[in-house]
Amino acid sequence: MVPFDFAYYRPQSIAEATALFAALERDGKRTLYYGGGTEIITLSRLNLVRTAAVIDIKSIPDVDNGSLVLGAALSLGELEEANPFPLLTKAAREVADRTARNQITLGGNICGQIFYRETALPLFVAEADVIIAGPYGIRQCRFLDLFHQQLQLGRGEFVVQFKVDRATATLPHFHRKRRKQGEVGYPLVTIAALKKDGTVRVALSGICPFPFRSADVEAHLNDRNRPVGERIQAAVDAFPRPILHDIEGSADYRLFVVAQLLEDMLRELGDGETV
Ligand SMILES: Cc1cc2nc3c(=O)[nH]c(=O)nc-3n(C[C@H](O)[C@H](O)[C@H](O)COP(=O)(O)OP(=O)(O)OC[C@H]3O[C@@H](n4cnc5c(N)ncnc54)[C@H](O)[C@@H]3O)c2cc1C
Repeated sequence: MVPFDFAYYRPQSIAEATALFAALERDGKRTLYYGGGTEIITLSRLNLVRTAAVIDIKSIPDVDNGSLVLGAALSLGELEEANPFPLLTKAAREVADRTARNQITLGGNICGQIFYRETALPLFVAEADVIIAGPYGIRQCRFLDLFHQQLQLGRGEFVVQFKVDRATATLPHFHRKRRKQGEVGYPLVTIAALKKDGTVRVALSGICPFPFRSADVEAHLNDRNRPVGERIQAAVDAFPRPILHDIEGSADYRLFVVAQLLEDMLRELGDGETV
């Protein structure tokens, strides 16, 4: 049971949602946007989140302009079923368990506090745009430009949708998630990659306390003048820090696992000729 009362709103438009947020905050009511609610409810039960009101964004319609539009309120289960972007489907399918995925939303996975945010990886490598609504209207940005360890949203802003180039969504790709054990759980390492114009793009979760895509890492992996082993070692050395070292796995073990996965990735994407 959630140990406090809160008001629930389900607006039908972006304008209604942002006006509601502003009005509630003016009245001194702490307000959260609400996707699937799994994290909000779980953390509320643990007294780690307290809110006076939630604004459920699931009834806000998507706007399509020819790109592949992925509404932030889509559940991961819906994404899996529709499969509009196969690499994203693979990432979504590895989050939590099926019951939770029917509730967890794309926006919630990316904006929540649990830092793995695995569905961000395909959006990094596809160079998706993100559409954000807030008190100052609607803006569209490159998702990567706005993601510095986490999505940088202003007060009262929420993610409406992501847009992915349709051709990019069908490019050759690679996805692997390794856990400490079993089929369900947080990652030791998750890799999502795709190959565009002969260049491998790669994003990782589970290595650092934030998901990332790094130009330096990709430059080393794509340096075909060097043997694959050297490329991988240089890429691993270029990872941002800190490397996670926790109950799921030590930093050294994570780096060992990720090096193996990077080798699999290069081989599967036809880039491991010199192994
Ligand atoms: C059992 C379980 C297992 C999990 N396993 C994994 C895993 O393996 N990998 C992984 O990456 N994650 C995992 N998670 C994390 C999960 O994806 C996040 O907790 C996610 O926030 C839940 O999505 P939700 O839609 O229910 O979010 P909510 O509970 O609705 O919201 C969570 C937070 O995100 C904000 N938010 C939600 N939607 C938006 C939006 N559109 N715009 C702006 N802010 C928004 C809310 O205000 C709130 O602060 C797991 C969670 C659970 C409960």
